[in-house]
Amino acid sequence: MREITVTIRLTDHEVARIAQNDGLGRGEITDRELAAWGQTQLQARIDNLPEPEPDEDDPDACRECGGPTDDGEGYDGRCGNCADQYADSFEATGN
Ligand SMILES: [Zn+2]
Repeated sequence: MREITVTIRLTDHEVARIAQNDGLGRGEITDRELAAWGQTQLQARIDNLPEPEPDEDDPDACRECGGPTDDGEGYDGRCGNCADQYADSFEATGN
């Protein structure tokens, strides 16, 4: 039998999101709890984390994907990519 140790590095932000995602409702998990979960459970929780919410306070954030719109390609609050997709769908539906 082989024993393999894998180190998972978590940012404080990830730890907070894991806590919120698990419905613990306190925004933080102790190191002792993280260790008790073990790496398999911990990795599963990381894999199940939702995508971060777009920052709605950022006026430069794309309204579709939350990405930057300051590359000069954007249009109507969308980044270049989303503006192109929007234009394509606009043309396709004729609306
Ligand atoms: Zn976008």
